[in-house]
Amino acid sequence: MSTEFDLMVIGSGPAGYVAAIRAAQLGLKTACVEKWKSAEGQGVNGGTCLNVGCIPSKALLDSSHKFEAAAHDYSRHGIGLDNLTIDVPAMLKRKQQIVEQLTGGISGLFKANGVTSIFGTGKLLASKQVEVTDFEGKTTTYSAKNVIIATGSVPIDIPPARVNQAEIVDSTGALEFQEVPERLGVIGAGVIGLELGSVWGRLGSEVVVLEALDKFLPAMDQEVSKEAAKVFKKQGLDIRMGCMVTGSNIKKGQVEVTYKEGDEEKTETFDKLIVCVGRRPFTDGLLADDCGVETDERGFISVDKHCATDVDGVWAVGDVVRGPMLAHKGSEEGVMVAERIAGQKAEMNYDLIPGVIYTHPEIANVGKTSQELREAGVEIKEGKFPFAASGRALASDDAVGFVKIIADARTDQVLGVHCIGPAAAELVQQGAIAMEFGSSAEDIGTMVFSHPTVSEAVHEAALAVNNHAIHIANRKKK
Ligand code: FAD
Ligand code: AMP
Repeated sequence: MSTEFDLMVIGSGPAGYVAAIRAAQLGLKTACVEKWKSAEGQGVNGGTCLNVGCIPSKALLDSSHKFEAAAHDYSRHGIGLDNLTIDVPAMLKRKQQIVEQLTGGISGLFKANGVTSIFGTGKLLASKQVEVTDFEGKTTTYSAKNVIIATGSVPIDIPPARVNQAEIVDSTGALEFQEVPERLGVIGAGVIGLELGSVWGRLGSEVVVLEALDKFLPAMDQEVSKEAAKVFKKQGLDIRMGCMVTGSNIKKGQVEVTYKEGDEEKTETFDKLIVCVGRRPFTDGLLADDCGVETDERGFISVDKHCATDVDGVWAVGDVVRGPMLAHKGSEEGVMVAERIAGQKAEMNYDLIPGVIYTHPEIANVGKTSQELREAGVEIKEGKFPFAASGRALASDDAVGFVKIIADARTDQVLGVHCIGPAAAELVQQGAIAMEFGSSAEDIGTMVFSHPTVSEAVHEAALAVNNHAIHIANRKKK
């Protein structure tokens, strides 16, 4: 027996579930297939983001930040705490409760919007048929006028350090350590490695991050990367650049890691090792040979700028297609595709996808970096405002970092906003809104900002672009 849907979405991560909800809002008969299973054998919606990604990592970052603040910062406020302890299972329980609240919320939203939720593994057949194998192994084939593939990504496993989720873990395993490892190795100084290294470092682990590249956070604005490297060093994260991991050995419950630094071969021993060397698009078992959908040489499903594949009516969104592997990028693609299926002319602005590292301080960016613009031959002007000059940041004991705004030297249009500091993710979003509307630095400078807020740093950085910041000395005019 086969049911026909206007739209079948395969995968219920932030790309898939958002697409399904938006499509149902627009009157399309929609189903969403998901293969995620809880430890109790129940189907769970929400994908990587809600189950083992954005949300649980932020829950642990928050818990560990509170612990670190209590251990090191509270005394400055006159707050004394004796015998500070960390109950790791309680911390993990809080994280899990948040995950369950949110994943349950997706199922609730599906019901409220009339999305049919189907648990099982989907496979795309020819002619937009989707075969679903449920958790008992029973197979049902559905047909659909449209299919959205939103099967996401999984951590990359590298031969020198094969994950066993005991001594050597991936990001998922690193959200489940039952106690604080004494010595923790992290392979990869990318976003996930820095966030997870920070979590356990704040709780007391001695953290060593081994990174193959010579340049730290190379895609970030270089002023921000430099500041970040200084801050992390001060926090005690031992980040070793130019160190390529070549092997690992488990000995008596510990991991001996071999790495090459230049021509020298070195070893380190850790209690746990987190492998954070990136993620790969996930299409294992998804595409029948005759389904017509192509993948590129790196395994991403090939799509055009509207996320359409080569097969009419088959689309792909989120981590499984080109572009940054970020939840909000996938969600907006999901909305765009749902609206296009419903006959609307939706577009998405790929130039303004913000990126955030949720360390403390946070690091965030939107738009172009100074180095990108200079390389492209664009003449730019820059304004920077340090949080050390922000009343609110000082009052909140959070005065590290700066906001940097880059504008076109001729037109004053804002081309990039970069921040390391308190609430950087929220501040950069203000820049994204301004940039979406083609704002100039002067436009931001003429707006009224509440006082005292850390947002005033955005105002002052915009003023600094044209040399009239009030609360710092401006560059001398040439
Ligand atoms: P996914 O979330 O991976 O969801 C895909 C879903 O498809 C999964 O549920 C999977 O089970 C299902 N699926 C796959 N194949 C099939 C099939 N054949 N049949 C049925 N179902 C299938 N991004 C941010 O923007 N901000 C952050 O702070 C952030 N933090 C992160 C922290 C960590 C530790 C990790 C690992 C990732 C983080 N990310 C973050 C990245 C973010 O999680 C991903 O970009 C996002 O989840 C991708 O969404 P998606 O819907 O494309 O795929
Ligand atoms: P990201 O892609 O942002 O998640 O970051 C992953 C990081 O892991 C990149 O900066 C890679 O250079 C790094 N990396 C990949 N393989 C190795 C390896 N064998 N040893 C050390 N670093 C690695």
